[in-house]
Amino acid sequence: MNSPGEYLPDATEGITRGEDLPKAKVAQRSRNYRRRPCPECEHSAYRDRVVTRTLHDLGDLKTDRPVDVKVTYSQHYCSRCGIYFNADMSDLALPKVHYTHRVVAMMDQLCILYRLLRCSATMFDTRSANSTSSRN
Ligand SMILES: [Zn+2]
Repeated sequence: MNSPGEYLPDATEGITRGEDLPKAKVAQRSRNYRRRPCPECEHSAYRDRVVTRTLHDLGDLKTDRPVDVKVTYSQHYCSRCGIYFNADMSDLALPKVHYTHRVVAMMDQLCILYRLLRCSATMFDTRSANSTSSRN
């Protein structure tokens, strides 16, 4: 049984070809509705067609595999406004983004951590302080 903080080797270490990487686990989600209110006029708009979108999610630590979320969603047509729109899936991801909110939040945290580490490393790096003073 794995415990938090236990070191586990990276299963992808040494793999040089992309096709040899572990295949993604696919999780299905549905945002498929017969009718949705139009975002412009709130008129109840019929479903025009059904499409799918794949979002990359955080990997599964237990199986050591990436996770893709396959979202089946409806596209609707408002006969009043003459516009097409998608069923809302803002709970999963932003429009036209290939990653879930969870991935984006994790990337934000890693960027903040990286900046903090880089900043603190620069503060305590005596070589950079000496090199700037020797140029003058
Ligand atoms: Zn409308």
